[in-house]
Amino acid sequence: MNPTGSGNRAVRASRSPTSGLSAEPSLEAPVRVNEIDDPLPLDLVLLGGFEYACRPDCGLCCYAEPRIEREERPPLLQIAPLAQFGSRRGGSFLRARPDGGACQFLDANRCRVWSARPSPCRQFPVTVHVGERLQASLVLSCPGIDLSPLAEARPWTFRARPRGLEAEVEAAKRRATSSIRRTVDAARRRRRRVKSALEKTGQWVDEEEVRADLRSAIPLPVVEDFPVPDPPPVNEDLANLPLYFDHRKGPVALAGGLGAWELLELRAEGGAEPLTLVPPPARPPELTAEGHGLLEGYLRYFLERDALFGTVVPEIEPGSLSTVTDEMRKELRAIGALVLSRADVRRRGVRDAVGPLTWVDVADGIRACDQDLLDRPTWGDRL
Ligand code: SF4
Ligand code: SF4
Repeated sequence: MNPTGSGNRAVRASRSPTSGLSAEPSLEAPVRVNEIDDPLPLDLVLLGGFEYACRPDCGLCCYAEPRIEREERPPLLQIAPLAQFGSRRGGSFLRARPDGGACQFLDANRCRVWSARPSPCRQFPVTVHVGERLQASLVLSCPGIDLSPLAEARPWTFRARPRGLEAEVEAAKRRATSSIRRTVDAARRRRRRVKSALEKTGQWVDEEEVRADLRSAIPLPVVEDFPVPDPPPVNEDLANLPLYFDHRKGPVALAGGLGAWELLELRAEGGAEPLTLVPPPARPPELTAEGHGLLEGYLRYFLERDALFGTVVPEIEPGSLSTVTDEMRKELRAIGALVLSRADVRRRGVRDAVGPLTWVDVADGIRACDQDLLDRPTWGDRL
């Protein structure tokens, strides 16, 4: 499994308010959404302990083409009669400006249609994987999220409430209605098909068994996992490149090249300014103890995401020698290698720093990867 697939900007959403809100979500039990007509539980455990506050100088998540529902169009058109829509996979989205630019409504890092923004924009950075169940987690590329809980041994088992995410959770719950039951059913059927094929060859292992096995010794990247595959080349399409937020340059894209990665400062109106070229590491960079702890914590967090299984398991060749546990182990190592490579490139790209990667460097690497990793297809879907 190659974890470097570039992000799908079509599903990236938008800046979210930190104000407003009703009761804090309880993490004691899955929250049932749409209780009256067709209850679907929304599992919020992976939000536990995180704090979020949108950064007014950022705008990263608005380099996107958010999906928009039919009923969301009229209020938006009242504010913006010339709004431009596109369509894809039977749904509509708001067009971004061409050549890697931001959403047509991003203006000096502010949304011009804030009160009528589509639901993915209201929900971000909460993301919901629709698979066997509805599992919420966070898009950790958002620099408004404090990553400290990742360094705890098992953050998802803590009953701490998330802070600053109340409006986003409410928006996610509103989207998780009975209409997605069909997607859940389709994901279950796909999983059953894959499970049955792998059971016949003795390769299947249930998710909880895999987790129990890997939690105790989280797989970390080794020399063979380097160098990682390049990001897409710059001439392919700016809109397909992985992005991160740099506090001095704003949104920065990473492009692959001949032996080096290019860092490009994106412009909201489209186009990009080349910043520098940095060769990716050919072997695992050294880490401080804190950097190591954060990487382990991130991989633990990823292991808890259902999306990871939904991405990795369908790719297993029935009859090969690999079990689900083997492939998940390999995948976590590959994700770790990607995080460290992007952390190293980010750091050398802006600071020319030497020495082991610190907590801050690894956090930068996580932020430069998480959206891309979540954007990969799974046997389900993503809200
Ligand atoms: S990526 Fe996060 S911090 Fe940046 S604008 Fe979006 S919600 Fe705010
Ligand atoms: S509608 Fe507003 S919040 Fe949503 S992507 Fe566009 S500018 Fe960002």
